[in-house]
Amino acid sequence: MAAAFLSTPAMAQDWRLVIHGGAGTIARDRMTPERDAEIRAALTQALEAGSAVLADGGSALDAVEATIHVLEDDPNFNAGRGAVFTAEGRNELDASIMDGRDRRAGAVAGVTATRHPISLARAVMDHSPHVMMASEGANLFSREQGLEQVDPSWFRTDERWEQLQRWLARDRADASDLSGADYKYGTVGAVAIDMEGNLAAGTSTGGTTGKLYGRVGDSPIIGAGTYADNRACAVSATGAGEFYIREGVAHEICARIRFLGETPQQAADFVQTETLALGGDGGVIVVGADGSWAWSFNTAGMYRGMAAADSAPQVAIYGDE
Ligand code: ASP
Repeated sequence: MAAAFLSTPAMAQDWRLVIHGGAGTIARDRMTPERDAEIRAALTQALEAGSAVLADGGSALDAVEATIHVLEDDPNFNAGRGAVFTAEGRNELDASIMDGRDRRAGAVAGVTATRHPISLARAVMDHSPHVMMASEGANLFSREQGLEQVDPSWFRTDERWEQLQRWLARDRADASDLSGADYKYGTVGAVAIDMEGNLAAGTSTGGTTGKLYGRVGDSPIIGAGTYADNRACAVSATGAGEFYIREGVAHEICARIRFLGETPQQAADFVQTETLALGGDGGVIVVGADGSWAWSFNTAGMYRGMAAADSAPQVAIYGDE
């Protein structure tokens, strides 16, 4: 009895989970009713996985990982299965995770054989002295950690392959357009606050279609694509990674909340506007240390969803809903 009493949080707090499945040119007239329904079902399934952890008193960190597993396995999203292809026709995956309690973090870049890159990022955090590991070293670490390995063909979908072919055949005048909105949507992310008031954030992606060998985007960069700090907020970003790195988007949002006292919505909107001014489009999801939350994006749409202890889950796709 005593142990049960001690493990009960002193001040139980309502949990909340916010997710995204990428931002981009996601417009109603480009979507079939079947695909619309499929995406909403996938987002709902991911919310259910994370909500089950949080409703059971589990940690924000476990909830973020469980949520992202579902999205990594779903071919509709650019993470795990369904990842976009590099210019050389490979799937090179990036992911990161962060614990708001103590700002421990783990990240991997350019990994090619781990079914769930988010769990490899977590293994780097939990079982190595490092924050970030890349490419072959990270692949080796994944095997040593006993994480599930898959053949590279596991990640392949015909749709992403065709996307690469269109990219390779594109008008070369577009080559400087790193935002390439048509070619990158589908990165996934989750942010959560648990019953103990702890925050966590995670992001997983295949990156951008046609990316060059060795290119790493914002998703595995702590402070750019992912950040969590119990003193402020948890953030996961999606969008034109080069610009999100330059702006330091996820950390910048937390800093505005922490030092200026802005709400998650104010901070997210401000930083999104500044990033767009640099040339980078995309979106973010945020949950604050007080449980308040926001999503903010400057693309036509963003796959997104929210579940909480005290409200019905919601999922949305387009900018006007
Ligand atoms: N931010 C990701 C990257 O640049 C792509 C995306 O979110 O769509 O790798």
